[in-house]
Amino acid sequence: MMKIFKTQRTLKEHLSSIKGKFEVGFAPTMGSLHEGHLSLIRESKKRCDIVVCSIFVNPTQFNTVSDFKNYPKNSSEDIELLKSTGCDILFLPNDVNEVYQNEKKVSLELGSIVNVLEGEHRPGHFDGVMRVVKLLFDIVQPDKAFFGLKDFQQFLVIQKMAKVLNMKIEVLGCDIVREKNGLAMSSRNKRLSNIELKNALVLQKALNHCKNNFRKMDLQALQAECFRILQKESNPEYFEICDAESLSPITEISETKNIRAFTAASIGEIRLIDNMEIL
Ligand code: AMP
Repeated sequence: MMKIFKTQRTLKEHLSSIKGKFEVGFAPTMGSLHEGHLSLIRESKKRCDIVVCSIFVNPTQFNTVSDFKNYPKNSSEDIELLKSTGCDILFLPNDVNEVYQNEKKVSLELGSIVNVLEGEHRPGHFDGVMRVVKLLFDIVQPDKAFFGLKDFQQFLVIQKMAKVLNMKIEVLGCDIVREKNGLAMSSRNKRLSNIELKNALVLQKALNHCKNNFRKMDLQALQAECFRILQKESNPEYFEICDAESLSPITEISETKNIRAFTAASIGEIRLIDNMEIL
């Protein structure tokens, strides 16, 4: 039976009674769950004894009030999905203060990985993500934490944050889960109309174009081509080809590097992101 806790006090009490006896895995989410989220629960179940999931729409990581207000919510369906996936514990705080009470703010210097891509285009976003994940890590104190590579930069930022803060938490990345047609699953897809869902395939199209033409042309020209593909069906913000560790843009092709392409584009009102391993 999945246990649901609405307060950090009751969750902590329960976790302290099992602490040391079991390995605890944790997957934080903002709810409106889909197969991408459930893949984190499954991976956590494979690797840990107890699986904790949280559902909390974190206001401090949104850039606009309307995006926050319109973020899809569906907790009764989420609870059923988590139960059927074998989640053991759900932390479902009722309000923002339940998570943010007693926050001790720390300032972190994580270098350029927080300032590029999403960091550049969504000022303050990663500050909000780090604040909430630090709070949740302090509450749950997991052995392992599971993040989706759909938000590849977020995964790197959290991994680095855990290291810099000396947290004894292994931060693991899980593969991007896509629809059959290639669209990366996202809670925001629920806000797209049928036509917009079709247009959203352009992110995947641009990333595939990048991968398929990687060795065939100059990188700047390739990047520009991918951007033009995006422009046909969306309002693109960026298309970048980067070193997968430092996230700095790649200007020359080198055999030794891990390379990934990253994109953000709006389809109507809805801003989507996606990324793909290139090398
Ligand atoms: P969110 O609810 O959007 O904050 O996402 C919660 C977690 O689920 C994050 O670690 C995301 O990276 C992960 N996630 C969201 N969508 C996907 C997906 N399509 N594939 C894999 N992981 C995902």
